[in-house]
Amino acid sequence: MRWRGRRTSSNIEDRRTGRGARRVGGVGGVGAILVVLASLFFPEAVPVLRMLGLDGAGGGLVQGPVQTLDEPRRDDQTQFVSVVLADTETIWSEIFAAGAFERAGNRYDPAVLVLFEGGTTSPCGNASAQSGPFYCPADGKIYIDPAFYEVMATKLKAPGDFAQAYVIAHEVAHHVQNLNGVLPAVQRRRASLSSVEGNRLTVRVELQADCYSGVWARRIEERERVLEEGDLNEALRAAYSVGDDILMRMSGRRVDETKFTHGTAEQRARWFKIGLQSGDIRACDTFSQPYQQL
Ligand SMILES: [Zn+2]
Repeated sequence: MRWRGRRTSSNIEDRRTGRGARRVGGVGGVGAILVVLASLFFPEAVPVLRMLGLDGAGGGLVQGPVQTLDEPRRDDQTQFVSVVLADTETIWSEIFAAGAFERAGNRYDPAVLVLFEGGTTSPCGNASAQSGPFYCPADGKIYIDPAFYEVMATKLKAPGDFAQAYVIAHEVAHHVQNLNGVLPAVQRRRASLSSVEGNRLTVRVELQADCYSGVWARRIEERERVLEEGDLNEALRAAYSVGDDILMRMSGRRVDETKFTHGTAEQRARWFKIGLQSGDIRACDTFSQPYQQL
């Protein structure tokens, strides 16, 4: 991704301490990394801790070469995240201004992105070193520990700067869903659903966020020409790598469709692609069609 020297967002809240002191490993060591993956926006309702830590277990799950490995270094991390966040603000401001979401108005109220290290607090619960990125609707903030990007690159075999950008775009998409009423509506409906039906509703939310991420990628490319060779492959691989089926397999659990909360690897990559190919949020209706056809 072409990001150096580009405009940054001011909506970054950096809670990291010990800047420059590189944290190696993680609390539990390499052998047993617990990771909360991929945007738990109902942390109280969805069991989110997933055991990973199987070295190399992701190998062979994703086919095809990774073409670029230009991970932003830690020193550059804040700038990279700020540029991607600014790019989401540009595109979502455009989409809101065009009147895409009647009930949300024409003005996009951007999310704040919290960078933390090791642990932090949020109204959605405490984040720890094992937390993956998540969005908290209660305060409208996205929480990311950049150490997750190392896990993604190594354990999940999804390296690359545009893989990282996808993660930010996905969490920003949840913020959009919060503004346009999708998240509040889903939260209300979930209250009267069984856990299986509730999970299915959550999958619809997540696949829509992946689709929105694809829309963002398409539109920022058209506007700013940010993509470099291999970038789209990185994002697709990232979406694929956080599929429920893959994560369940990696953690040694049985693949149980009733416990899916994000969709399969194939679904997640495909919905990203649907957004990417259309560049139109209207292509991202994951709520109308029968669940089995998602
Ligand atoms: Zn999500």
